[in-house]
Amino acid sequence: MQLSGIRARLAALGALPLHQERVLRDWVQGAAHERGRRPASDFLPKPVREALPLLDAELAGMTRLVSAHPAEDGSERLLVALNDGQMVESVLLPRDGVCVSSQVGCAVGCRFCMTGREGLLRQVTSGEIVAQVVLARSRRSVKKVVFMGMGEPAHNLDNVLEAIELLGIEANIAHKNLVFSTVGDLRAFERLGQGRVKPALALSLHTTRLELRSELLPRAPRLTPEELVDHGERYARLCGYPIQYQWTLLEGVNDTPEELDGIVALLRGKYAILNMIPYNSVPDLPYRRPSWERARAIAAGLHAHGILTKLRDSAGQDVDGGCGQLRARAGRTIAL
Ligand code: SF4
Repeated sequence: MQLSGIRARLAALGALPLHQERVLRDWVQGAAHERGRRPASDFLPKPVREALPLLDAELAGMTRLVSAHPAEDGSERLLVALNDGQMVESVLLPRDGVCVSSQVGCAVGCRFCMTGREGLLRQVTSGEIVAQVVLARSRRSVKKVVFMGMGEPAHNLDNVLEAIELLGIEANIAHKNLVFSTVGDLRAFERLGQGRVKPALALSLHTTRLELRSELLPRAPRLTPEELVDHGERYARLCGYPIQYQWTLLEGVNDTPEELDGIVALLRGKYAILNMIPYNSVPDLPYRRPSWERARAIAAGLHAHGILTKLRDSAGQDVDGGCGQLRARAGRTIAL
C-alpha cells in the first residue's frame, strides 16, 4: 500500500486533506496522540468513519512481527513479514531510534553484505516503510528513523521520500532525525533538496580509492569519492546538518595508512562526521572485522588530524547483526 493510495481512498470517501492527515497521524502516532484531542469520530465524514475499521485492519496487516532478537547493547533486531510473505529486517536502536528496510534485497551487491548477495526482489512500499516505524513504536519510543536497513533507498526514491515526508510532518519526528542513507546517486542528490522535509544524509564511502570502491560496491553509480563529497557538501549546506560518511572497517582492506591519509585529504574542513563501523563478519564472506583496539586507534588518529570521527558498533552485532542475516537464516519468505 502506498501512502498516496491511502490518501486517494480516503479522498474518494469524501475526506478533505485535513481528514486524511488526521487518519494518517492517528496511525503513526497511536493512542498517545489521541489523548486530550477531539476524537476523530466527531468530525470525520460518515463514509470515512464507516470505512475506518477495515482501513485500520489493512494498515495493521502491512507488517507482522515474525521474531525479535534483543542484544546486549539495548538494540533489538526484528524480523518482519510483509503481507505477501516477503520478509525484511528492522532494528530498534538504543536511544529511541529505528533502522528500517526500504527494499526486499538490494541491487547494489556490496561484496561484504548478505542482503546484496540475493539481488533486488521487490520494492518496499511507502506504507510498508511507515508500518515498520509503527511496529517499532508499539515496542518502544521512536524519535529517530534511519534508512540503513535492507536495500538502497535511492533505488526506491518515490516510496522513501513519501515515507520521509509523512514521518517528518505527521509522525512528529525532527527532520534531522530522519537519516537517508545512500551509496551516492545523482537522482537522490537532486530530489532530497526539493522536499518539504529535508532529511539528514548518510553517504556510504568505505574507501577513498575509486578502483576499490568499484570492487566493493560493484553496482553503485560511478562517482568518484571527490564527486560524492562535493554533492554531500552542497546538501549539507542546504539542509544545515553535517553529512554522515559511513565507513565499514574491513581488516586489511580499508584500514591501511594510505586510506587514512586519503580520508584526511578528502574530508578535512568539510561539514561532515565520519562514522566508522567495524565490520560484522558474515559466514562465507572473506572480510574480517579488525579488533576494537585497532579501530579505536584509527579513529583517534583521524581525530588528531581534524576529522570528526565516531566509532560505532553495528547495533545488535551479538545476534548475527549483519544486515540480512536474520532473513537469510529464517528463509526468504514466510507462509501466510
Ligand atoms: Fe545494498 Fe546496503 Fe547491502 Fe550495499 S550494504 S548491498 S547498498 S543493502
